[in-house]
Amino acid sequence: MNRFLVVFDVDSTLIQDEVIELLAEQAGKRAEVAAITEAAMRGELDFAESLKARVDTLSGLPESVIRATFERIRLTPGVVALIDHIHAVGGLVGAVSGGFSQILEPLAERLGLDFHLANQLGVLDGRLTGQVDGPIIDKAAKAAALVRWAAVSGIAPSNTIAVGDGANDLQMMSTAALGVAFNAKPIVRDQAKLVVELADLSELIPLFR
Ligand SMILES: [Mg+2]
Repeated sequence: MNRFLVVFDVDSTLIQDEVIELLAEQAGKRAEVAAITEAAMRGELDFAESLKARVDTLSGLPESVIRATFERIRLTPGVVALIDHIHAVGGLVGAVSGGFSQILEPLAERLGLDFHLANQLGVLDGRLTGQVDGPIIDKAAKAAALVRWAAVSGIAPSNTIAVGDGANDLQMMSTAALGVAFNAKPIVRDQAKLVVELADLSELIPLFR
């Protein structure tokens, strides 16, 4: 019997990196992508627009950059201990990301995640198309994933927890029974029910008994 569901953001939550910036670095466009991210943070672009603009900078890169980027990502300290603990006490773990499924799928396998969802980078003839295939995973899609994964698992909404660091996580954090701001941006700290300042996910273990 699974008693509860914990859904994590990925970039700067389960991992220490922002995958889009690592990918852009491979294209020699990290500064360009960082400028778009900053525009989005100032409210000049919404998430879907900013994602499309950033993915466009990746157009033409060989598909092999995805694997090379996966090899570079750094897990957040404590992540394996936390996920193993949640499973040991009867919880399920999901990860939902405004990043990319080609990175999240092998990460989910490595961590033993029960659910995962992210954007799909377009690939054609071995090269990135610079487009996202399928639906954009934005803040509403993140919240909907939490609701859907709880429902298919027979877990009540009152037994859900969402953990994230960015503005894109606020909707799933308010949808969950408990929203946890982890190493978070100020706007997220201000709105979260619980704020964890230390950048070690094992700090969350006492929440789950
Ligand atoms: Mg994040």
